[in-house]
Amino acid sequence: TASTTYRGRFAPTPSGPLHFGSLVTAVASWLEARSHQGQWLVRMEDLDPPREAPGAADHILHTLEAFGLTWDGSVMYQSQRHAAYQQQLDQLIQAGHAYPCSCSRKALEGHHRYPGWCRSAPQHPDQPLAWRLRVDDQVSVQWQDQVQGPQCWPLQQAGDVVIRRKDQLWAYQLAVVVDDLKQGMTHILRGIDLIDSTPWQIWLQVCMGRANSDAPAFQYAHLPVIVNAVGQKLSKQNLAPALDTARISSLLMLALQALGQQPDPALQQETPETLLHEAIHFWQLDKVPAVAAISETDLKPCI
Ligand code: GLU
Repeated sequence: TASTTYRGRFAPTPSGPLHFGSLVTAVASWLEARSHQGQWLVRMEDLDPPREAPGAADHILHTLEAFGLTWDGSVMYQSQRHAAYQQQLDQLIQAGHAYPCSCSRKALEGHHRYPGWCRSAPQHPDQPLAWRLRVDDQVSVQWQDQVQGPQCWPLQQAGDVVIRRKDQLWAYQLAVVVDDLKQGMTHILRGIDLIDSTPWQIWLQVCMGRANSDAPAFQYAHLPVIVNAVGQKLSKQNLAPALDTARISSLLMLALQALGQQPDPALQQETPETLLHEAIHFWQLDKVPAVAAISETDLKPCI
């Protein structure tokens, strides 16, 4: 039928192998897309070559395949998208939405938001320049988060954000919006660690003429953080273990539990493909808890 308008995605940064937290995000966005007869795309966010682990992008794709998380179409690589980002940056500059900034990381130490020193002109125009997005201090962006509930974020508290770095690398905020629009996304499910980026991303959509501050171009759902036995968020930085591909079905079961679903324990005996296709039928986004989802006792048996 024609209900194929749903488009979701998984957008890993290839700085290392997938861990349990990234599996939970992938499973949730896959199930949400599949249960809407939608498309699910994978985009490799390889914007920062120095931070990339060699082979990580291929490793991530093989892991997704092993877990039965099949994607539609071909994988988009952000490293191939420089021309599109440049074109968008040029338009933002022309429209006065972006300005050059010479502030160093060191000068900004201790500031929670950019204090706006280069807003009217770069303080040190002879220094290397980044480009910042100018937010409207009078505006709050609003969205109905499908997991976290209603959100209202004053842009003044967010401040102006870098969209092209001094070292010429493209910033995540610009690339993610250009690509989510280009790929025709309708829904964005991702970890709650990214929720404070969402106001900038909505503001970018507004500056691009693709949204209103209270009506973003996409539906957002920010998933609970997954913590380890000592309450730290799982991440490559705190050495979250890579997914053990010998225990795929049990890890999928734990991911479903972390997402507030109640899979029949018998499913653990199934192949990942069967397990996930069963899960399409009982998957309910509104069961996903808003806060940290998995306790140490839940985690221990699997990792
Ligand atoms: N590449 C980002 C990450 O791995 C996710 C981007 C997104 O989902 O918007 O954390």
